[in-house]
Amino acid sequence: MARLAYRRALGILINAGGFSQNQAMRDRYMPGTSVLWSQTPEGDTGDMHQELERIGGLLAQMDQLVGYQMTPAPGWDQTYVAPGAQSMTGKPHAILVDQSGQRYMNEGGSYELYCETMRKRNALVPAIPSWAIVDRNYVELYAIAGKYIDKTIPDGWIESGYLHTANTIAELASSIKVNPATLNATVARWNGFVAKGVDEDFQRGARAYDNCGFVGDPFSAQRALGAIDKGPFYAVPVVPGDVSTYGGVVTDACGRVIKAEGQVIAGLYATGTTTASVIGNVYVGAGAASVLPWSSAISPPRHAAGL
Ligand SMILES: Cc1cc2nc3c(=O)[nH]c(=O)nc-3n(C[C@H](O)[C@H](O)[C@H](O)COP(=O)(O)OP(=O)(O)OC[C@H]3O[C@@H](n4cnc5c(N)ncnc54)[C@H](O)[C@@H]3O)c2cc1C
Repeated sequence: MARLAYRRALGILINAGGFSQNQAMRDRYMPGTSVLWSQTPEGDTGDMHQELERIGGLLAQMDQLVGYQMTPAPGWDQTYVAPGAQSMTGKPHAILVDQSGQRYMNEGGSYELYCETMRKRNALVPAIPSWAIVDRNYVELYAIAGKYIDKTIPDGWIESGYLHTANTIAELASSIKVNPATLNATVARWNGFVAKGVDEDFQRGARAYDNCGFVGDPFSAQRALGAIDKGPFYAVPVVPGDVSTYGGVVTDACGRVIKAEGQVIAGLYATGTTTASVIGNVYVGAGAASVLPWSSAISPPRHAAGL
């Protein structure tokens, strides 16, 4: 592990990234997640989190990650961005269910909220992986893991157990080891909401975000809603991948590292994903993962610098 040995004359600024690539730290702080699903650089080992903790730094929000739901299709070798699943389960003719066969969220949520909801659900009901359930209508219009499979299913997708397909929802449920009656009921309930035009359970489609092209389909009649009623039916797993962790050492407004007892460690500064996110566990949008303290160590505000 890297060790800090520093002189105080000018101070030291730690900007060593998060800990997405450290499975032991994941198991400790965010159990159920895997380095295999992370898209972060290999340097995000958390070595500085461990060192900062060792010298007395206060760690916070360590259970938070900037999730990015993905579907681990065969052939993905982690050398490129993993196939995302947000544009998949938020589309018409698609839902997400846990391993009991029940929906548990508005599938159009932000990727951070989506994965957090998945992790919270997993504490109650097995939900990692969850299953994307789609029908023939879906595959004629939209992609799975970036591939259009209506005419040709990519080699290995069925043989490897990644893609499940069946002529009825009950058979599909058996294939993914979900109770057929539960999945039948979930799909019937969803189709009832689609007929009414209102998702009474999770209000999917009620927000403009649900209906945008990235998540839903503004060119479809019901934009975020669509019945799952035309066989064959398909299922693929969805897991809570990530693009960053969100926890780390706590700093004051000037970026100085704070000890558990509350005082600062003189001359030691930290920023970026080495620190606990300054906006807490809320992901307000793209750019939020690496938000810096508003008064960074490099450029403190005028009053903090005594100017
Ligand atoms: C595919 C992808 C898409 C993303 N999209 C978005 C987005 O749209 N919006 C957004 O806000 N964020 C996004 N992110 C997240 C964002 O990239 C990160 O939050 C951000 O890069 C973190 O910046 P950082 O400087 O804190 O750490 P990093 O960029 O991880 O840099 C830390 C560096 O420190 C190095 N390091 C580690 N330990 C040591 C050590 N002991 N000594 C020296 N060097 C060390 C690491 O190798 C690394 O190079 C995305 C990430 C990925 C992977």
